[in-house]
Amino acid sequence: MATYPDSPIDLRSDTVTKPSAGMRRAMAEAEVGDDQYGEDPTVRRLEETVAGLFGFEDAVFTPTGIMANHIGIRMLVGPGEELICDADAHIVAHENGGLAAHAGIQTRTLPSTRGLMDVAELAALVRVGDRYTVGTRALEVENTHNRGGGAVYPIEVLRAIRALADGFGIGLHLDGARIWNAHVATGVPLAEYGAVADTMAVCMSKGLGAPAGSLVLLPPGRAEEARGLRRRLGGSMRQSGILAAGALFGLTNNLGRLSQDHENARRIATALRSAGAAVREPETNIVLVDVDDAPAVAAACAAEGVKISPFGPKLLRIVTHLDVSAQDCDTAADVVSTALMQSPERD
Ligand SMILES: *Cc1c(COP(=O)(O)O)cnc(C)c1O
Repeated sequence: MATYPDSPIDLRSDTVTKPSAGMRRAMAEAEVGDDQYGEDPTVRRLEETVAGLFGFEDAVFTPTGIMANHIGIRMLVGPGEELICDADAHIVAHENGGLAAHAGIQTRTLPSTRGLMDVAELAALVRVGDRYTVGTRALEVENTHNRGGGAVYPIEVLRAIRALADGFGIGLHLDGARIWNAHVATGVPLAEYGAVADTMAVCMSKGLGAPAGSLVLLPPGRAEEARGLRRRLGGSMRQSGILAAGALFGLTNNLGRLSQDHENARRIATALRSAGAAVREPETNIVLVDVDDAPAVAAACAAEGVKISPFGPKLLRIVTHLDVSAQDCDTAADVVSTALMQSPERD
């Protein structure tokens, strides 16, 4: 029997975490300056630290992951040129058409399994441009894959995609909003993920728990251009060392603990499966459940104090993070199971 929570358990996303007392202290005490003059030492430290972790020469701090993806891709693809990605990629599903609207970039998508593209199918899509044919300028991969339920690309597959890009002389952008989860789940060093990509976006405001901020990792010699583009997009900030300090705190304190989020996701999946739900086995911190009426089930759960996301008409997304305990996850699994059993359309 479910014991219902006193305060809501929010499993809609790992973006909902609030900065801890320690993180807030680090933010309050951050040494800052005007970052548009290049004078914020904490932002600089974050950029150098994260670039170094992934083996990149430089990185630029951005307010959001969407802007980091946008700037990274702009380094590789121009207007009227083509980018190939999977059909469920965040850049085509959830970035409001930004690549098309802001940059005139044509995206061509490949249906995939859990968001992970097949290398041979990808190879067959790439076009060498000429007077009559749009040229593919870059490929994009997402790791872990959000709509794919936190699926992780095997590093060998990423290396094969890198080799494919090299063979055609084109770029590769990695949307690593949750690359931290991939690293913790597989043990593959961050630098090995970095080595496959020309540009990369990483989020500090998801599993790592910072209130805001992402970074775009850049090819050699492109940081000035990226900073200019960030300003054009309205994303250049001033004393943003306050945010960078939260990000650095998250990196130091919250990376290793992502394994707990993965364990909690498996706990939820196991409980839901034993209650008869059609759960996809989680690889990291995202659990997807196939249901008949996702909005109805999500609403029933919300009424019992458990927030989860309808991720499509028949798909639920449940995301674990540092602000939910194993016990919260057990409670949430009970509430979701009960809602599923009471769902009138359940067969
Ligand atoms: C969250 C996310 C982003 C960035 O989103 P923002 O809300 O702009 O920080 C990018 N890619 C993926 C796969 C994401 O899940």
